[in-house]
Amino acid sequence: MTNTADYIQQIRNDFPALHQEVNGKPLIYLDNGATTHKPNAVIEAEAEFYRTVNSNVHRGAHKLSDLATEQFENARRTVQEFIGAIKPEEIVWTRGTTEGINLVAATWGRKNLSKGDRILVSGMEHHSNIVPWQMLCEQTGAELVVIPVLDNGELDLNGFAELMEPRVKLIAVTHVSNALGTVNPIPDIVRMARINESVVLVDGAQAVAHFDVDVLQLDVDFYVFSSHKLFGPTGMGVLYGKEELLNEMPPYQGGGEMIEHCSFDGTTYNVLPYKFEAGTPNIAGAIGLATAIKYLKGLDRKLLVKHEESLIQHAHQLAAELGGIRIIGEAPKKASVFSFLLEGAHPADVGTLLDQQGIAVRTGHHCTMPLMARFDVPGTVRASMSIYNTLDEVDALFKGLEKAKMFLL
Ligand code: PLP
Repeated sequence: MTNTADYIQQIRNDFPALHQEVNGKPLIYLDNGATTHKPNAVIEAEAEFYRTVNSNVHRGAHKLSDLATEQFENARRTVQEFIGAIKPEEIVWTRGTTEGINLVAATWGRKNLSKGDRILVSGMEHHSNIVPWQMLCEQTGAELVVIPVLDNGELDLNGFAELMEPRVKLIAVTHVSNALGTVNPIPDIVRMARINESVVLVDGAQAVAHFDVDVLQLDVDFYVFSSHKLFGPTGMGVLYGKEELLNEMPPYQGGGEMIEHCSFDGTTYNVLPYKFEAGTPNIAGAIGLATAIKYLKGLDRKLLVKHEESLIQHAHQLAAELGGIRIIGEAPKKASVFSFLLEGAHPADVGTLLDQQGIAVRTGHHCTMPLMARFDVPGTVRASMSIYNTLDEVDALFKGLEKAKMFLL
């Protein structure tokens, strides 16, 4: 039996971008929350599509168009199975998490919300799960209400319970916080939502690459994620919605593909999911995402979950040993996101010094400015780990921080 370290090395061999030097040093890529690298299989699947089939879908005019349609719709089924949706019709292609949320706000939101209604979001949301709802509130007169976050980065479930009342029509929360790593208790949230008959949208951007997600088991109404954080191509994403909700929603954008019949007297709309997919879709992106999912499913995911846990535990342990580190986000249930401040140093300076050593992290507000205000910090340094990171890389991060400490303090 291979040990975990060997297994991770094998996985690393599948990701060509990991094997390069940056600033004269071997790359240590700890910015997976922003985007993950892509395995050869994904790069090759996209290239192969453009090399061979490269035709538009749903036109049926020739053999290659049929082939493209088949691959495109098979990709939809791969996503459906991956997240446990009942039907492929419940999988809508988007450009990413951001577009998925905007779609729900613009369609379900405008149809169902009016003055006096409430939308609950958590205090740890990414801007993409805040701003579309603020825009919707401006349009409808609904009100945005914030579920508080505890000092350790957990969602305040008591505070959440107090906010639940009949005016709450929608709860939009992240599954995993990109800035804290907190894994939110979606089943508890859904249970309370059902009592109140509120609709639940979950932002899964930071979840799907780290653990299995089953939308049916979670019983969420909408679930959104991006391909590029799941080892797939950029410009591609998924909106899952329960069929009955999607059916009742008006279309998002108008154009080709989303119509059943179009005349100057009026237009009728296509069936699901095409009603929401106006224009030529990102065909290669869908095929690339499906390839990423198949790649991930071919790995020992249980072992990888444990491996990522060991990476984050190791980071916490080394932080305690080094001292002078303020960790932002210490929820008991957290993904492999290590967000911190080196006391006395600005996060941007720490990031620059790490970059000089070939260590890629993200610094700043992580598109969560309200959360940064909640913790009264200008931003943090974020090392976000993935399946291909190693304990040695975490060691290297802390050696880098030791150097940064000497230089900056
Ligand atoms: N939600 C969370 C939790 C994120 O981390 C991100 C991206 O960082 C997004 C939403 C937005 O994703 P995208 O830019 O791929 O639409």
